[in-house]
Amino acid sequence: MEFSGAVIDVDGTVVRGDDPIPGAPAGYRRLRAAGIETLFVSNNPTKAPPAYVDRLGAAGYDVDADRVFTAGSVTTRYLRERHRDDDLLCIGEAGLLDQFADAGLSTTDDVDAADALVASIDREFDYDDLCTALWALERDIPFIGTDPDVVIPAPERDVPGSGAVISAVAGVAEREPDAVLGKPSDTAIEMVRERLPYPPEECLVVGDRLDTDIALGERAGMTTVLVRSGVTDEAVLESSDVEPDHVLDHLGEIDRVIG
Ligand SMILES: [Mg+2]
Repeated sequence: MEFSGAVIDVDGTVVRGDDPIPGAPAGYRRLRAAGIETLFVSNNPTKAPPAYVDRLGAAGYDVDADRVFTAGSVTTRYLRERHRDDDLLCIGEAGLLDQFADAGLSTTDDVDAADALVASIDREFDYDDLCTALWALERDIPFIGTDPDVVIPAPERDVPGSGAVISAVAGVAEREPDAVLGKPSDTAIEMVRERLPYPPEECLVVGDRLDTDIALGERAGMTTVLVRSGVTDEAVLESSDVEPDHVLDHLGEIDRVIG
Protein backbone atom coordinates (compact mmCIF):
# COMPACT_ATOMS: atom_id res chain seq x y z
CA MET A 1 0.00 0.00 0.00
CA GLU A 2 1.24 3.49 -0.92
CA PHE A 3 0.39 6.06 1.74
CA SER A 4 0.07 9.79 1.08
CA GLY A 5 -0.79 11.18 4.52
CA ALA A 6 -0.45 10.36 8.22
CA VAL A 7 -2.35 11.76 11.20
CA ILE A 8 -0.08 11.48 14.24
CA ASP A 9 -1.16 11.84 17.87
CA VAL A 10 1.16 13.72 20.23
CA ASP A 11 1.08 12.59 23.90
CA GLY A 12 1.93 8.92 24.31
CA THR A 13 2.76 8.64 20.59
CA VAL A 14 5.69 11.00 19.94
CA VAL A 15 6.32 12.51 23.41
CA ARG A 16 5.79 11.67 27.07
CA GLY A 17 5.80 14.96 28.96
CA ASP A 18 8.44 16.97 27.09
CA ASP A 19 10.66 14.00 26.22
CA PRO A 20 10.59 12.17 22.89
CA ILE A 21 9.44 8.56 23.05
CA PRO A 22 12.46 6.39 22.17
CA GLY A 23 12.42 5.49 18.47
CA ALA A 24 9.60 7.89 17.60
CA PRO A 25 11.69 10.75 16.11
CA ALA A 26 13.30 8.25 13.70
CA GLY A 27 9.84 6.92 12.78
CA TYR A 28 8.64 10.47 12.07
CA ARG A 29 11.66 11.16 9.85
CA ARG A 30 11.04 7.84 8.07
CA LEU A 31 7.45 8.89 7.24
CA ARG A 32 8.69 12.23 5.89
CA ALA A 33 11.46 10.55 3.87
CA ALA A 34 8.85 8.23 2.33
CA GLY A 35 7.02 11.35 1.02
CA ILE A 36 4.12 10.92 3.44
CA GLU A 37 2.54 14.21 4.48
CA THR A 38 2.20 14.38 8.26
CA LEU A 39 -0.33 16.14 10.48
CA PHE A 40 -0.14 16.23 14.30
CA VAL A 41 -3.55 16.17 16.01
CA SER A 42 -3.76 16.42 19.81
CA ASN A 43 -6.83 16.18 22.05
CA ASN A 44 -5.30 18.70 24.48
CA PRO A 45 -7.75 21.66 24.36
CA THR A 46 -5.65 24.10 26.38
CA LYS A 47 -2.94 24.85 23.83
CA ALA A 48 -3.03 26.39 20.34
CA PRO A 49 -0.86 25.05 17.47
CA PRO A 50 2.11 27.47 17.95
CA ALA A 51 2.74 26.04 21.44
CA TYR A 52 2.95 22.60 19.88
CA VAL A 53 5.46 23.70 17.25
CA ASP A 54 7.80 24.76 20.05
CA ARG A 55 7.20 21.67 22.20
CA LEU A 56 7.56 19.24 19.30
CA GLY A 57 10.60 21.09 17.96
CA ALA A 58 12.35 20.84 21.33
CA ALA A 59 11.68 17.08 21.33
CA GLY A 60 13.21 16.62 17.86
CA TYR A 61 10.16 16.90 15.57
CA ASP A 62 10.51 19.59 12.93
CA VAL A 63 6.96 20.83 12.18
CA ASP A 64 5.13 23.95 10.89
CA ALA A 65 2.10 25.45 12.66
CA ASP A 66 -0.24 24.58 9.78
CA ARG A 67 0.68 20.89 10.29
CA VAL A 68 -0.71 20.81 13.85
CA PHE A 69 -4.17 21.18 15.35
CA THR A 70 -5.67 20.47 18.76
CA ALA A 71 -9.05 19.88 20.41
CA GLY A 72 -8.94 23.63 21.07
CA SER A 73 -8.76 24.27 17.30
CA VAL A 74 -11.59 21.79 16.65
CA THR A 75 -13.84 23.31 19.34
CA THR A 76 -13.11 26.84 18.11
CA ARG A 77 -14.06 25.85 14.56
CA TYR A 78 -17.31 24.21 15.74
CA LEU A 79 -18.25 27.26 17.83
CA ARG A 80 -17.47 29.66 14.96
CA GLU A 81 -19.72 27.62 12.67
CA ARG A 82 -22.64 27.24 15.08
CA HIS A 83 -22.31 29.80 17.88
CA ARG A 84 -20.54 32.74 16.23
CA ASP A 85 -22.81 35.39 17.78
CA ASP A 86 -23.49 33.60 21.07
CA ASP A 87 -22.22 34.43 24.55
CA LEU A 88 -20.42 31.31 25.77
CA LEU A 89 -20.19 30.28 29.41
CA CYS A 90 -16.93 28.32 29.72
CA ILE A 91 -15.64 25.90 32.32
CA GLY A 92 -12.06 25.64 31.09
CA GLU A 93 -8.54 26.93 31.41
CA ALA A 94 -7.09 30.27 30.30
CA GLY A 95 -5.37 28.61 27.34
CA LEU A 96 -8.76 27.60 25.91
CA LEU A 97 -10.37 30.98 26.56
CA ASP A 98 -7.44 32.67 24.79
CA GLN A 99 -8.12 30.59 21.67
CA PHE A 100 -11.80 31.60 21.76
CA ALA A 101 -10.87 35.28 22.18
CA ASP A 102 -8.37 35.08 19.29
CA ALA A 103 -11.16 33.66 17.11
CA GLY A 104 -13.51 36.52 17.99
CA LEU A 105 -15.83 34.37 20.09
CA SER A 106 -17.59 36.05 22.99
CA THR A 107 -17.65 34.63 26.53
CA THR A 108 -19.69 35.48 29.63
CA ASP A 109 -19.83 34.62 33.34
CA ASP A 110 -23.58 35.28 33.54
CA VAL A 111 -25.43 31.95 33.97
CA ASP A 112 -28.75 33.63 33.17
CA ALA A 113 -27.56 35.22 29.92
CA ALA A 114 -25.27 32.53 28.44
CA ASP A 115 -26.35 31.09 25.08
CA ALA A 116 -24.27 27.89 25.40
CA LEU A 117 -22.09 26.10 27.96
CA VAL A 118 -18.62 24.79 27.05
CA ALA A 119 -16.99 22.25 29.42
CA SER A 120 -13.31 21.29 29.32
CA ILE A 121 -10.37 20.29 31.50
CA ASP A 122 -9.95 22.82 34.32
CA ARG A 123 -7.46 22.06 37.06
CA GLU A 124 -9.34 24.50 39.33
CA PHE A 125 -12.76 22.91 38.72
CA ASP A 126 -14.84 23.00 41.93
CA TYR A 127 -18.32 22.98 43.52
CA ASP A 128 -19.05 26.55 42.35
CA ASP A 129 -18.43 25.44 38.77
CA LEU A 130 -20.95 22.62 39.21
CA CYS A 131 -23.51 25.18 40.48
CA THR A 132 -22.78 27.39 37.46
CA ALA A 133 -23.23 24.47 35.07
CA LEU A 134 -26.43 23.32 36.77
CA TRP A 135 -28.02 26.77 36.68
CA ALA A 136 -26.99 27.47 33.08
CA LEU A 137 -28.21 24.09 31.80
CA GLU A 138 -31.54 24.47 33.64
CA ARG A 139 -32.28 26.94 30.83
CA ASP A 140 -31.78 24.12 28.32
CA ILE A 141 -28.98 25.87 26.37
CA PRO A 142 -26.55 23.83 24.20
CA PHE A 143 -23.89 21.87 26.16
CA ILE A 144 -20.59 21.35 24.35
CA GLY A 145 -17.46 19.44 25.47
CA THR A 146 -13.99 20.09 24.04
CA ASP A 147 -12.79 16.45 23.96
CA PRO A 148 -13.73 13.07 25.45
CA ASP A 149 -10.44 12.19 27.23
CA VAL A 150 -11.41 11.08 30.76
CA VAL A 151 -7.81 10.74 31.88
CA ILE A 152 -4.63 12.08 30.33
CA PRO A 153 -1.06 10.85 30.79
CA ALA A 154 1.18 13.05 32.93
CA PRO A 155 4.87 12.47 33.72
CA GLU A 156 4.13 10.73 37.08
CA ARG A 157 0.59 9.32 36.87
CA ASP A 158 -2.57 9.79 34.78
CA VAL A 159 -4.69 12.83 35.74
CA PRO A 160 -8.38 13.72 35.06
CA GLY A 161 -9.05 15.30 31.65
CA SER A 162 -11.94 17.07 29.93
CA GLY A 163 -14.05 13.90 29.85
CA ALA A 164 -14.09 13.85 33.66
CA VAL A 165 -15.32 17.45 33.86
CA ILE A 166 -17.90 16.87 31.10
CA SER A 167 -19.18 13.78 32.99
CA ALA A 168 -19.48 15.76 36.23
CA VAL A 169 -21.49 18.47 34.46
CA ALA A 170 -23.62 15.87 32.66
CA GLY A 171 -24.24 14.17 36.00
CA VAL A 172 -25.48 17.23 37.86
CA ALA A 173 -27.56 18.48 34.91
CA GLU A 174 -28.86 14.96 34.17
CA ARG A 175 -28.28 15.41 30.45
CA GLU A 176 -25.63 14.40 27.95
CA PRO A 177 -23.60 16.96 25.96
CA ASP A 178 -24.97 17.98 22.55
CA ALA A 179 -21.47 17.67 21.06
CA VAL A 180 -18.02 16.57 22.18
CA LEU A 181 -15.25 17.85 19.91
CA GLY A 182 -11.62 16.74 19.50
CA LYS A 183 -10.90 13.24 18.18
CA PRO A 184 -12.94 11.31 16.99
CA SER A 185 -15.61 14.00 16.24
CA ASP A 186 -16.96 14.79 12.75
CA THR A 187 -15.44 18.29 12.96
CA ALA A 188 -11.97 16.81 13.63
CA ILE A 189 -12.40 14.44 10.66
CA GLU A 190 -13.39 17.40 8.42
CA MET A 191 -10.26 19.27 9.49
CA VAL A 192 -8.07 16.21 8.79
CA ARG A 193 -9.64 15.75 5.35
CA GLU A 194 -9.00 19.40 4.44
CA ARG A 195 -5.33 19.20 5.41
CA LEU A 196 -4.71 15.71 4.00
CA PRO A 197 -6.86 15.84 0.82
CA TYR A 198 -6.19 12.24 -0.23
CA PRO A 199 -8.46 9.20 -0.48
CA PRO A 200 -8.94 7.97 3.12
CA GLU A 201 -7.40 4.59 2.30
CA GLU A 202 -4.14 6.39 1.49
CA CYS A 203 -3.99 7.86 4.99
CA LEU A 204 -2.65 6.43 8.25
CA VAL A 205 -3.80 7.37 11.75
CA VAL A 206 -1.17 6.66 14.41
CA GLY A 207 -1.99 6.97 18.11
CA ASP A 208 -1.91 5.38 21.55
CA ARG A 209 -5.61 5.60 22.36
CA LEU A 210 -8.36 3.32 21.03
CA ASP A 211 -11.45 5.46 21.71
CA THR A 212 -10.02 8.64 20.17
CA ASP A 213 -7.13 8.01 17.73
CA ILE A 214 -8.10 4.60 16.42
CA ALA A 215 -11.83 5.48 16.53
CA LEU A 216 -11.15 8.57 14.37
CA GLY A 217 -9.28 6.45 11.81
CA GLU A 218 -12.05 3.86 11.70
CA ARG A 219 -14.76 6.52 11.32
CA ALA A 220 -12.80 8.22 8.52
CA GLY A 221 -11.99 4.96 6.67
CA MET A 222 -8.24 5.33 7.22
CA THR A 223 -5.61 2.70 8.10
CA THR A 224 -5.19 2.61 11.89
CA VAL A 225 -1.93 2.05 13.77
CA LEU A 226 -1.94 1.66 17.56
CA VAL A 227 1.36 2.33 19.33
CA ARG A 228 1.87 0.74 22.74
CA SER A 229 4.02 3.64 23.95
CA GLY A 230 1.13 5.41 25.68
CA VAL A 231 -2.08 4.61 27.57
CA THR A 232 -3.12 1.33 25.91
CA ASP A 233 -1.67 -1.89 27.31
CA GLU A 234 -2.34 -5.47 26.26
CA ALA A 235 -5.27 -5.90 28.69
CA VAL A 236 -7.05 -2.77 27.40
CA LEU A 237 -6.47 -3.86 23.80
CA GLU A 238 -7.83 -7.36 24.40
CA SER A 239 -10.98 -6.17 26.19
CA SER A 240 -11.86 -3.52 23.57
CA ASP A 241 -14.19 -3.80 20.57
CA VAL A 242 -11.97 -1.38 18.65
CA GLU A 243 -9.46 -3.26 16.51
CA PRO A 244 -6.53 -1.35 15.02
CA ASP A 245 -5.21 -2.52 11.64
CA HIS A 246 -1.66 -2.56 13.02
CA VAL A 247 -0.16 -2.65 16.53
CA LEU A 248 3.41 -1.41 17.05
CA ASP A 249 5.48 -1.00 20.21
CA HIS A 250 6.35 2.56 19.11
CA LEU A 251 6.40 4.85 16.06
CA GLY A 252 9.99 3.78 15.31
CA GLU A 253 8.55 0.51 13.96
CA ILE A 254 6.50 2.30 11.25
CA ASP A 255 8.44 0.50 8.50
CA ARG A 256 6.36 -2.59 9.33
CA VAL A 257 3.35 -0.63 8.00
CA ILE A 258 4.79 1.46 5.16
CA GLY A 259 7.33 -1.14 4.00
MG1 LIG B 1 -2.16 10.12 22.96
